[in-house]
Amino acid sequence: MKVLVVNCGSSSLKYQLFEMNDESVLAKGLVERIGLEGSVLTHEPTDKDKVKINADIKNHTIAIGLVLEALIDANHGVIFSMAEIDAVGHRGVHGGEMFSDSVLVTADVIKAIEQCIEMAPLHNPPNISGINACTELMPGVPQVAVFDTAFHQTMPKKAYMYALPYEAYEKYGIRRYGFHGTSHKYVSQRVAEMMGKDYKELKIITCHLGNGSSLAAIMNGQCVDTSMGFTPLEGLVMGTRCGNIDPAIIPFLMKKESMTMEEIDTYINKKSGVLGVSGVSSDFRDIEKAAEGGNERAQLALDMFTYEVVKFIGSYAAAMNGVDAIVFTAGVGENAISMRANITAGVEYLGTKIDNEKNNVRGKEREISVDGSKVKVFIIPTNEELVIARDTAKICKK
Ligand code: AMP
Repeated sequence: MKVLVVNCGSSSLKYQLFEMNDESVLAKGLVERIGLEGSVLTHEPTDKDKVKINADIKNHTIAIGLVLEALIDANHGVIFSMAEIDAVGHRGVHGGEMFSDSVLVTADVIKAIEQCIEMAPLHNPPNISGINACTELMPGVPQVAVFDTAFHQTMPKKAYMYALPYEAYEKYGIRRYGFHGTSHKYVSQRVAEMMGKDYKELKIITCHLGNGSSLAAIMNGQCVDTSMGFTPLEGLVMGTRCGNIDPAIIPFLMKKESMTMEEIDTYINKKSGVLGVSGVSSDFRDIEKAAEGGNERAQLALDMFTYEVVKFIGSYAAAMNGVDAIVFTAGVGENAISMRANITAGVEYLGTKIDNEKNNVRGKEREISVDGSKVKVFIIPTNEELVIARDTAKICKK
């Protein structure tokens, strides 16, 4: 059985084609900077040379069309025709209270994902575009949605409730849902394997730091808290999202700037975060470069990001009354060497000590703490795709 996994982010699209008989990856790739200047598809067929395809990739539909072309290409393709793809698994972001598990995509499921757009304005639209593009280009192929919210369903009520009138929860389902669940689940289970310890006996803090970022506290194999909330806007400072702010700022700004609901929504979701603070970019590589060149606002954005992560790690260590392991994953977590060094230095009081040599690496799975560090620190490249492929195969075989 061959499963194509599609992970549509706000400005990126990752894909992997799996042969599920042995869970091998036939090809994988990444479309970067969708809708931005310099968009590019990097296609990596296993056992063949990697290719970079530069194109004007305006949206996710164009991106998926290019991916399918690359998969069947005479030179760098890995299958003869699209008919060889048995199923498609999509990373779904917000399932609201409607989905606590992965689900076969039907017209009703698409409608339900559409109903959650209000809660995930940056994510559910590219998810739906991805599903629609696959329906159009691969009619009749079953598709499965695997939701980011599912892993966080184990949170205790004291962690997922907001101190609003209780009716807000009963009437509208306003509560913390949490996101990046597939990633937090994968890296937390993987770190237990790497440590040779029982997952159910560990206290783990997972730091998914990318364009969107979240932390999770996982105790005895269950998520007990996470930094994203009702929507993926809450928590850390992100690429373009503001993260935690005083909620009173919203009506204040709307009044001062005569903003509509849509305008304030765009302001906090798309114009804020490290982009808003630095004025440079939402991409941490651009910001690091600007900071190195003396741009003070770029440096401030990096400092604010680091400070927030340090504070969250401290609060999750408190929530679990200890921590055994800290894991860095996603674009920034896997690649930003000095960011990892600064964050771990900020929580040294917990007993974390990293080895600068071991930390001097990008995108490699490894422990980076020194021998004897009380709290172990790891880089684990996330593998949401494998989790999605497994769920997709399981559901489609039924
Ligand atoms: P993700 O959302 O997980 O795809 O992560 C995207 C983010 O990772 C972008 O902001 C990138 O700038 C950042 N990133 C990727 N490579 C690096 C790197 N070498 N150093 C710093 N940030 C990076």
